[in-house]
Amino acid sequence: MSIAFDVINPATEEVVRSVPLTTADGTDAAIARAGAALPAWRAVAPADRARLLRRFADAVDADIENLARLEVANSGHTIGNARWEAGNVRDLLNYYSAAPERLNGKQIPVSGGVNITFAEPLGVVGVIVPWNFPMPIAAWGFAPALAAGNVVVLKPAELTPLTAIRLAELALEAGIPQDVFQVLPGKGSVVGQRFVTHPAVRKVVFTGSTEVGKQVMAGCADQVKRVTLELGGKNANVVFADADLERAAATAPYGVFDNAGQDCCARSRILVQADVYDRFMELLEPAVKGVVVGDPSAESTEMGPLISAAHRDHVAAFLPDGAPVAFRGSAPDGAGFWFPPTVVTPTSPSDVLLTDEVFGPVVAVVPFADEAEAVAMANNTEYGLSGSIWTSDVGRALRVSRGIEAGNLSVNSHASVRYSTPFGGFKQSGLGRELGPDAVDAFTETKNVFIDTTF
Ligand code: NDP
Repeated sequence: MSIAFDVINPATEEVVRSVPLTTADGTDAAIARAGAALPAWRAVAPADRARLLRRFADAVDADIENLARLEVANSGHTIGNARWEAGNVRDLLNYYSAAPERLNGKQIPVSGGVNITFAEPLGVVGVIVPWNFPMPIAAWGFAPALAAGNVVVLKPAELTPLTAIRLAELALEAGIPQDVFQVLPGKGSVVGQRFVTHPAVRKVVFTGSTEVGKQVMAGCADQVKRVTLELGGKNANVVFADADLERAAATAPYGVFDNAGQDCCARSRILVQADVYDRFMELLEPAVKGVVVGDPSAESTEMGPLISAAHRDHVAAFLPDGAPVAFRGSAPDGAGFWFPPTVVTPTSPSDVLLTDEVFGPVVAVVPFADEAEAVAMANNTEYGLSGSIWTSDVGRALRVSRGIEAGNLSVNSHASVRYSTPFGGFKQSGLGRELGPDAVDAFTETKNVFIDTTF
């Protein structure tokens, strides 16, 4: 008997669609079909595999508005963000369509013969996707995996399966062979767990909480299964006194409240040099109050709702009575999982508002004395994903960039993600890198072959 999950629109609390959940047996059957599809897919001529990926990209491009509307309904993303996310899938497919014809091995000089290396696909790759960015995070896994000749089984988050289901349809329409890319809506404890334990799955790509990521890594160890982890963040936005303060304050809300703060790269700690702290707060308040929160399908909306009632409770628990709230923006009343942008000023370094990933529109602002203290405070976390540095001194920008233990930093900007540059975390923010020119390497094994030419 198949069980279904009601997908809820987080802006209206209405049921969008009921989606059948894949069972453990259904997962095993899909993995078996994927394995059966592997020999033919890896044998597709490189130029043809490239062409198929570009056709998949074209199909996504033609469907951008539909995909974006689906994401607005399923995830409450603003329509502007959702269009960017669908476009990111297209761009990734185009970018990695160049890979099949460039999976170069090496010819290494040796005595007595010829030595060559091959980049072989791993086989069946399992991709486990969270609910915060259903489209891009799916494509960060499946696009390079397919390009390298792997077959993919993908589990979207239970809450947000709709765009992944649509992407699988588009892949088929574009000519990607049956069972090469399968989407299995279902529970992490069932489908995701089976990716970890099933011996035919040779790699797991996981994005989500650090807690579950550790379990996935431990489970994969049992079979020495390859694993890439993209986990949480508690990222610092470091504002020095010599920065363009107006610009730093005007952009800070968007560095943390984008996607309602449900972003592993959210700059949820703003560290401000003490000399300009008061002035920064004066500038930040109107910027936060100016964030347009509301109907995510409206073109002018800048922030939508949180993903679920349970998640709203999780975020609200960070702000009990007496929490150090400095000021708040607005949020609609009525149906929907709304939460206003909120600025807090905790004083203890061990305050959960400074140590834990809230994953909602809550930002902590604290002062620092000098460059050394700024770097020490930025690094005072088990995470190390991203961060921003605002300064007009290029030497300081580089010193602090080298000093902060995080994988993705931006100077006078909050941009963390480009499909053509590597993305991933230091410390407990993850393992391995996605995106960029080298991502395909994480989906291949190097095979070394020696040919004796002495007879
Ligand atoms: P999870 O880590 O629980 O979920 C991420 C994905 O893993 C989902 O697809 C989930 O399935 C799946 N999963 C859950 N349990 C297992 C398991 N045992 N084995 C394999 N896969 C599993 O994140 P949550 O959605 O619960 O979010 C909790 C917190 O995690 C957030 O508040 C935030 O702090 C952080 N987070 C960070 C993200 C990031 O981008 N780094 C993304 C999402 C969350 P299912 O859909 O059934 O839950």
